[in-house]
Amino acid sequence: MTWCIVATWPFSLAGLEQAARGLQAGSSALEAAIAVARQVESDPEVDSVGLGGIPNLDGIVELDAAVMDGRDLSIGAVAALQHCLSPVLVADRVRTATAHQMLVGAGAEKLAAAMGLQRASLLTDKSLKAWQDRKAALEARQSVPVGHDTVGIAALDLDGNLAAATSTSGIAMKLAGRVGDSPLAGSGFYADNDIGAAAATGLGEDIMKGCLCYEAVALMRSGLDPQSAAEQAIRQLHRRLARTRDHVGDMALVCADRQGRIGAAANHASFQYAAAGPGQAPAVRPAPQVG
Ligand code: ASP
Repeated sequence: MTWCIVATWPFSLAGLEQAARGLQAGSSALEAAIAVARQVESDPEVDSVGLGGIPNLDGIVELDAAVMDGRDLSIGAVAALQHCLSPVLVADRVRTATAHQMLVGAGAEKLAAAMGLQRASLLTDKSLKAWQDRKAALEARQSVPVGHDTVGIAALDLDGNLAAATSTSGIAMKLAGRVGDSPLAGSGFYADNDIGAAAATGLGEDIMKGCLCYEAVALMRSGLDPQSAAEQAIRQLHRRLARTRDHVGDMALVCADRQGRIGAAANHASFQYAAAGPGQAPAVRPAPQVG
């Protein structure tokens, strides 16, 4: 048996290093994926996840997160969750302790409170200032830089179990209540022990149109290795969207299969991911651009 872990963006490297040590020592894929998401959620320097995440148009940080266990396809997700430092933990509690798969807004906050998680302000001086600048630019009808990124993880453990997790504050200046792909099974993440696992980052509104992560796992099921599946899933959705739309948003994904192979691809040049496995020290790499 082997293990591997792959996660979106260089900001996941610190958490991934720890999670890789855990996987090597026998931690579960689920524990590893959640550990990476939690580490990024708690880092105020990451401006698109958890503490210090990008606020919505009203200046409020609303978080989306999810967990999927490839053993039984169980899923837990939260969306538009406010005042919570660890949305991925609440997502996992939805999975393990409720009869549901997703809780949103006040309902998710109620579960977080029942878990004993303290209500917290997620705004930092830096994120408040960034929001004020964006708001002023919008009011002056200037263009506002698109800001977003998700920590998305796919992991395989020594017992042959696969898991995926995601966490994000979504798109900068989104409308209150906007939900992206990250908490949506099949779009932002997917994991099935029989095949593989995947997690996405990029413009949720476009990722959702192709159920990107389910598609990557389905391509692995049809026989593609993870790298080819990642490239094919991105390429086909990008081309389909480009055929009938003026603009295609940024999209990227990471994936792993039950044999411990990993893959990553994006439709833009700036996507980098972190990965580790036996004989492969944790490192950040650029993903190939396809489209
Ligand atoms: N996919 C996230 C969303 O649309 C943002 C990102 O990963 O860049 O909410």
